[in-house]
Amino acid sequence: MSPKKQSAYAVPKLTNFSAKTLGARSTELRAALEEEIRRLLLIQTAGGLEHDAEWKQRWEECKALRDRWVARKNGIVTQLKDLWLNPAPSDKKSEVGRRFNELKTHIEEEVNRAQALLQRMETDDQNAIIESDPSGHFGSYDEALKSTQGLDITLPGIRHPLGAEHPVIKTMNEMVRVFRNLGYSVEEGPEIETDYYNFEALNFPPNHPARDTQDTLFMANQESKPLRDRLLLRTHTSPVQIRTMEKMKPPVRVVCPGKVHRNDAPDATHSPIFHQIEGLAVDTNITFCDLKGTLDHAMKEMFGSSVRTRFYPSFFPFTEPSADVQISCIFCGGRGYRDGGPCRNCKASGWIELLGCGMVDPNVYGFVDYDAKKVGGFAFGMGVERIAILKYGVDDIQLFFNGDVRFLEQFA
Ligand SMILES: [Zn+2]
Repeated sequence: MSPKKQSAYAVPKLTNFSAKTLGARSTELRAALEEEIRRLLLIQTAGGLEHDAEWKQRWEECKALRDRWVARKNGIVTQLKDLWLNPAPSDKKSEVGRRFNELKTHIEEEVNRAQALLQRMETDDQNAIIESDPSGHFGSYDEALKSTQGLDITLPGIRHPLGAEHPVIKTMNEMVRVFRNLGYSVEEGPEIETDYYNFEALNFPPNHPARDTQDTLFMANQESKPLRDRLLLRTHTSPVQIRTMEKMKPPVRVVCPGKVHRNDAPDATHSPIFHQIEGLAVDTNITFCDLKGTLDHAMKEMFGSSVRTRFYPSFFPFTEPSADVQISCIFCGGRGYRDGGPCRNCKASGWIELLGCGMVDPNVYGFVDYDAKKVGGFAFGMGVERIAILKYGVDDIQLFFNGDVRFLEQFA
């Protein structure tokens, strides 16, 4: 790879210490150093050194250059001391000493600069340096050094890509904003929960199948603890509702955004990690009409004012009655067909199921010391990825978590 080695420079023994001789020998030494550094920095092809092995070899040559010139034991600087400075007659000592110091500084500086330039060539500016020399060779070592030494304002700048909000976080923030505008505040809670907050206080009976390890990720080695104290990764953001009611008396109006975990294998529609937003409103005189009005408004804010909602009977342990909410299909306008065929987004039904909701089960109030005879309220929950998938037309939930910048850049 490296050019054919020329006979290496050796420090000549000085017998004549005249200024003229000292000057000539110094010039030879400087030229030899420059030539060695030029050889080190020479790029053989316009494409630069592409392979790690080539760079490794280049760095070994760089280390050899440093050893050869400045190593304390038998480096050229040390030889200058032994062969020029020490044998100098006393009347020439100061002149030779001055020369020696000059050369020593020069050698150290040049070796350091060569190393810095090699470093820069290997990293980000390799292309820029090669472009400035279309023949693929450095015209001169000095010229190459000007990359490291000065600032050439005519070169194109280094572009730093702008970051953007992740589509899941963006959707979550939009959703939170809708409810903030309705007077809701934001509450958060821990991702590692106890069975009590994740299940028991939400009216899940002790043998409810959601506790099954097929659905829930439990912490290991907790068999000795009572069921309600066992730790798990929360499977929904509903525990935050319990924690909020424990510390707050009605009226309560909160939304709880956050990350949740299920024991699901990842595929196009499932992920072991996803995000939810839940909402809770508790006060006197809250009815199912308030729930319907609130969610209808929220869906119109998210998907446009032409979107319609409908409520379907459903079941959740912590709400009674419970409902699934469907919105009119945003792809076909609720018609069930588009482009002359059935709409595949709503399976030609004209409706898309989006979230679950219901009136808070009076049993839940018992866990948080609310008087179920005096207060009532509603709760709702939705998957953030599900909404983001609809909003941005994404066909694989895994794209949100792969961290592929090409995907994320589309949302910048
Ligand atoms: Zn449709």
